[in-house]
Amino acid sequence: MSKQKKKQAKPRKFNKKNWIISQLRRLSIKYPPSIRARNRTKEEYYILSKKGKQLKRVKFTCEKCQKIDLKRTETELDHIIPCVSVNDYKELIEEIKINNELLNILKCDEDEFKELFSLMIFMARLFVDEDGYQLLCQKCHKVKTKKENAIRRKSKCIK
Ligand SMILES: [Zn+2]
Repeated sequence: MSKQKKKQAKPRKFNKKNWIISQLRRLSIKYPPSIRARNRTKEEYYILSKKGKQLKRVKFTCEKCQKIDLKRTETELDHIIPCVSVNDYKELIEEIKINNELLNILKCDEDEFKELFSLMIFMARLFVDEDGYQLLCQKCHKVKTKKENAIRRKSKCIK
């Protein structure tokens, strides 16, 4: 019973920071304040099935344009302050006094420290309180993301 060898995909270079970010994002779906924010505008209603059964459905409202009757898949839970910074904060990091003791505790060099620091900002912004979120319709979300990306390009903050 030998399985045929799958064609090996090119191994992608492992990027620790990106890996941590993707895992944290995954974790944030179950983060209680984000669940509460997602359900803030949730309304339950019932429809009648062909067999006359009552089926429960849910609908949402965009918290920006107030568009109603949105399906879950038509909404995006948005971080009001984006997790991925729109502004570059390299200068701020340069101002932090990094000493050897600190680097020793964190087992890293100065460049890795800067990476960790930006990761910390990302994490703090990812796990915000409930009022740090807004539920948006896809259109409002697109508009907001577009604006943010434009600022990121200007400040060369895009990864
Ligand atoms: Zn909207």
